[in-house]
Parts: sequence; structure tokens; C-alpha cells
Amino acid sequence: MVDFSRARDRMIASHLSRRGISDPDVLEAMRTVPREAFVDPGFEEFAYEDSALAIGHGQTISQPYIVALMIERAELQPGDIVLEIGTGSGYAAAVLSRIAAHVYTIERHAELAKVAQKRFSDLGYDNIDLRIGDGTAGWPEAGPFDAILVTAGGPGVPYDLKEQLDLGGHLIIPVGSAEEQRLMKITRVNATRFEEQDLGGVRFVPLVGEQGWTRDRTVLH
Ligand code: SAM
Repeated sequence: MVDFSRARDRMIASHLSRRGISDPDVLEAMRTVPREAFVDPGFEEFAYEDSALAIGHGQTISQPYIVALMIERAELQPGDIVLEIGTGSGYAAAVLSRIAAHVYTIERHAELAKVAQKRFSDLGYDNIDLRIGDGTAGWPEAGPFDAILVTAGGPGVPYDLKEQLDLGGHLIIPVGSAEEQRLMKITRVNATRFEEQDLGGVRFVPLVGEQGWTRDRTVLH
């Protein structure tokens, strides 16, 4: 059994701290979650490089720096209820679950969801609920959420996700074309007012769904 703890410490120092991630809860959570358990078999040796890796079905486990950036900008507090759209490998949900009280995560590919669910069970991460389906509609029965993270890029911000954000809550979502997006932070100020902040350029796989892209990448909403 290879010990990845030194590789994990190096990732924290060179890919996260050095690039400006400073929230101690985020750094600690990323020091705790074994990223090697979330990559495909045979790819463990690449788990702590700062890059996205293929996980099948044309999808990826996101780059560690981007995972950290999204979670830090969501300004999580212990006790928070969080929604993630795009479970993928399950890694970001696992990191979120080490900081928040409960994580709800939605994945449209049943096969990816099944593997992620097994990883959560194997690691004993029992504060994560996973659902298969179109996450652009959110998870209304579980909301409102203190934070919502969308880990796939859409043409706009799904209306249902804004509606399921609690007052003062933050929604982090890549918005733009299918090829490149701006990472947006949307904060709910009151029932009808939302503030937007642009966190920079990113490249995510497409958010496919009713309030995202259709399969052929034309806009529905
Ligand atoms: N958070 C993931 C991780 O840590 O591995 C990264 C996921 S990958 C960059 C984006 C994921 O979003 C893919 O698994 C994709 O199938 C999923 N996805 C795309 N559109 C979706 C939708 N409407 N609802 C749920 N999942 C969606």
C-alpha cells in the first residue's frame, strides 16, 4: 500500500497555498481526503498533480486548485447545508463533506454516481446524499442551501438554483460557452436581489440539462 500523505502535503503547499488558497478549513479538508481513492484504477500516481483527470464517460475529476478555489469562495461554515451539481468522481463532494454539516450532490451519469457512492461508503463519509438526475433543477426538498457549487459549465445560471439559495448564501458556477467559461460567484442578498462577482476564466465540461446545454450543445434556456 503506497503512502500518499507526503504527496498530499506537497499538493497543499505548491498547488494550493502558494497560489493563494488560505482558508484553513479548506486546506485541512484537502489534506484529509485521499484524492487517490477518487481517480480511476491505475491513475493513483497522478492523483496529486494539479490537473484534471479523465474518469470515463467524457468527464473529469477537477484540478485540485479549482476545487479548493470554488470551496473557499463559497465561504462555508460548519453547520452549512451544501448542494453540489456534478458529483463526477465524488472528490469535491467528499472535500465539502469534511467542512459542511451535510452535502447533497447530483450526477446525471448513473455509472459515475454508483462508483462515487461506493467511495463515500468505503471512506465512511455518511453526511453525503447522492441523487442521479438533472441537477439544473436543484434538490428543492433539501433546500434552501447555504452554498451551491456547480462543477460543470452552463450557458447561464439556472433559475431553480438561484431560488434554492438561502439568504446570504453563495452559488459558484462556471458560465459561458461550451469551450470556456467565467467562474461566477452569486450571492443572495435578499429575496429578489443577487450580487455577482467574476472569479476568473475556467474550462469545465458542459452542464447538460433542462437549464443547461442540450446534448448537441445548443441553448435551451
Ligand atoms: N465534482 C466532480 C469531481 O470532484 O470529480 C467533477 C465533475 S466533472 C468536472 C462534471 C460532472 O458534472 C460530470 O460528471 C457530469 O456528468 C456532471 N453533469 C453535467 N451536467 C449535469 C447535470 N445537469 N446534472 C448533474 N450532473 C451533471
